Parts: sequence; structure tokens; C-alpha cells
Amino acid sequence: MEYVIKGYEPADALRYFEEISAIPRGSKNEQAVAQYVYDFAKDLGLEARIDTTYWNVVVKKPASPGCEDKPAVMIQGHLDMVCEKNAGTAHDFEKDPLDLYIEDGLLKARGTTLGADNGQAVAYMMALLARNDLVHPPLECVFTSMEEIGLLGALQVDTSDLHSKYMLNVDCGPEGTVFVSCAGGLLQEISKKVRWEKAGGDTVSLQVRGLLGGHSAAMIDHEMGNSIKVMGRILHGIQKQMEVHIVSLSGGSKMNAIPRESDAVITVPAGQGDKAIEIASHIAATAKAELAASDGGLYLQCEKAGAAERQMSLADSRQIIEFIFLVKNGVYTMSMEMPGLVVCSSNLGVATTDDTGVHLTDFIRSSDPTIRDHLDDEIRSLAQLLDIEIAPADPMPGWKYEAESPLRQLFMKLYKEQTGKEMVAVATHGGLECGILKDKMPDLDIIAFGPTADGAHTPDESLDLASFERTWNLILATLKALAEQ
Ligand SMILES: [Zn+2]
Repeated sequence: MEYVIKGYEPADALRYFEEISAIPRGSKNEQAVAQYVYDFAKDLGLEARIDTTYWNVVVKKPASPGCEDKPAVMIQGHLDMVCEKNAGTAHDFEKDPLDLYIEDGLLKARGTTLGADNGQAVAYMMALLARNDLVHPPLECVFTSMEEIGLLGALQVDTSDLHSKYMLNVDCGPEGTVFVSCAGGLLQEISKKVRWEKAGGDTVSLQVRGLLGGHSAAMIDHEMGNSIKVMGRILHGIQKQMEVHIVSLSGGSKMNAIPRESDAVITVPAGQGDKAIEIASHIAATAKAELAASDGGLYLQCEKAGAAERQMSLADSRQIIEFIFLVKNGVYTMSMEMPGLVVCSSNLGVATTDDTGVHLTDFIRSSDPTIRDHLDDEIRSLAQLLDIEIAPADPMPGWKYEAESPLRQLFMKLYKEQTGKEMVAVATHGGLECGILKDKMPDLDIIAFGPTADGAHTPDESLDLASFERTWNLILATLKALAEQ
């Protein structure tokens, strides 16, 4: 194969990066790359196993001589990548190799995502497995699948024969930061079966518009307006003064996005339509003023509409409105250990109406499982009071911050020795595979980090090659220190 990357170190890891870049590896299409990594390990004479259902690969490498009795170290990353390309790029992610090039010290792929997320980890692990000149404890390299579509591979990894005490996840840049915690998740699928009746009275249509939305991990503490909650407040306000029947209710499209828009059609007693519009407009103006500093574009389109055919019963309508009005949303608890870290939050992300009734999704994120369960319980209690169902669900585990982490302390010290700079410890309210592995192996001491790479999940994705080399050196220094301590 003709290699593009020349004159950069570590040359072997970069060569492996190019080799996996030639193998299509979008999520759910990991078979070929998993087989490639497995064969690579077998050719080296290493103990390896491949999961032929989910395409996770685990490779064990014995310690360097004299370090056999040191605690094992897991290195971990994911095989799959996000497949995004620019309009007009003819790339076929099912069969074409990525077209790599270097510009100003940055590695990129022409017109497509680069897959440094998380090919960087795969390349590092392959180099660690192949080299004979390193000092390290026993290594357990875990290559997972389907990370980008919900951490699905990690959930399936068999850890029963793994013995690591430490874990290095290499999926979290930029250089100079170390991740110390992540959130898990719990999806609540909420539904209310309703009794339909013939519609009557004045029909009013309401549309909440103009909100900014955002990712429910990164933006939940930015006081963005949630369009479904705003609609709940408006309907509740009208309902305090007159009978309200819901004809339809909808909003949002993704469980992990803060909803920007919401629509409702309601009926109110004949002759009360204008009054309902006045109340709704007043509440929308109030909410807009409250959000002025964070999400002040909110506006309401509200008008009398043609007669509806059917409406939900008064009792069902009332229960749905009360639920949306009362359900907890946004930040639930903040950390007092990590400044600015949201520990637990919920996002009422989607509302839809069909023949059976109204359906809602609420996504709880939490790094702390008991706080997550408490919030889950609160919302379930509320639902029960209002005769609303929430389907049973399995939580996705989070990774709770631990004040005492010998691995993190060592890693931060080595970074300072290497660069003269202080490493910054950060916690994310997003999800990482670390949470799942911590749940499977509760004694693991974990860090997550990575080289500087920008534009992940977009065709602008790039990997800083100088940072790739420094991060490699930091990994080697960490393994050596763990072998010698
Ligand atoms: Zn990733």
C-alpha cells in the first residue's frame, strides 16, 4: 500500500492508522476492521478473541520482562467511525478507502470524516501490541464496535477474563485535558392512552417557535427554553380558566436534543377562543422575557382554526397537560466537587400524537446512579398519579467522579513533566464507554484522554500530528511508570 504520512512519529502507529483508514468502518459495519485487528494480533502470536455477533475484539499482551506481577492495564477505544461527507463528494462509505492528506501538520480526509475518532486509539493499541522495545505491565486492549450509535459494542463486551486494575480510554481530546467522569442515561418512553370524543367549541392552534435548542448533554445547563415545556405552561395557564381538550400535541424530534418547536391544537368552550389566545400570548411573552439572556427568540403563533373532528376527553387532556407542566426538566443536580458539572438532568425531548394518544420521551442523564434512579422514581410517581404509563427501561451506566484516583494523579504528573503545563481535569455530562466498563469492572481506575483532534463527526475532522506524537509519548511514560511503581 502507498502510504501518505511520511516523516511523522510514531511511524508505526500512523501506518496502522492508514491501514484501518482503507477499511470501511461505519457503525454496524465493523466486521472487516475487527477481523483485521484480530488477525493482526494472532499474527503477532498474542492471545486474542473476536466476538462474531457484535465485532468487539480483545487482545492480551504479556508484560515486558520483569513486570509480570504488575497490575494489568486496559487500553480501550472504538473501531467504528461516524460517516459524514461534504455534498458533492463521491465517497462510498461501504467500500471506498478514506482519501488521507496532510495540511499544516493536520491529518485530514478529502471530503469526509477522518475517523481519528476513534482510529487514533486503534492505531496506538496496534503499535503497543506490535512493539518489543517497551516497558509495560500486562496489557488488555479492548476494541469496541458501535460506539457512535449508543455505546452498543461496549455493552456487549465480555470482561469475565479481564483483570485490569487501570484503564486508559483514548477517545477524549483535546491534549492537555483528562476526563474524570461521564454521565449515563435512562430513556423514559411515556404514553397516555386517551378516549376520543367528537370535537366541539372553538378550535385554537398554537405553535411555539424561535428557540435555539441544542444537545441535551452540552447545553442542558445553558437555560435554553424547552418548547414542549413552554407549551405545557401555556396549556396549563389556559386550563386554569376554562376547559381545554387536546386535539393534537407534538414537538421535538430527538431524545438527546432540546426541542426547539412545539405544536398543539386544542378546543375550548364556544366563544372562549379569543380569551384562550390572549392567555397563551401573555404566557409566551412572559417566558420570552425570562429567557431574554439565553434563548430570547421565543415567539408564539396562535390563531383560531377550523373545527376539529375529534378531541381527547377532558380528563385525559387534563392529565396530559398536568404531566407536561409538572415533569422535571433541565438541570436536576450539580456537582459540588467539580465546578460547573451537571450531575443529573432530564430532557423532555419529543412529543407526538397518534390514534392511541400522546407519547413523550424524556431522557435522563446522570453520572450518579442513585440520583438518576431518584429522578426516574419521581417522574414515574407523577405519571402514576396521572394515569400515564412509562415503559420499563434499562439504564446506561455512568462513571462517577472519584476524588482519589492514583492513575489520574500519575498521568497528570507525567503530563506536567513532559510539557511544563498543568493538565486540566474535566467531567462530561455526555456518555462515554468508560461508564459501561466501570459498571462491568467496578474496581477499575479510569482516565479518558486523547490527542488534539478537531471537527469530530464532520468532514472537517482533523488530527494534529504533533499532538498525536506527544500523546503517544505520554501513554508510553504512563505504562512505564505503572510497570516500575
Ligand atoms: Zn469516539
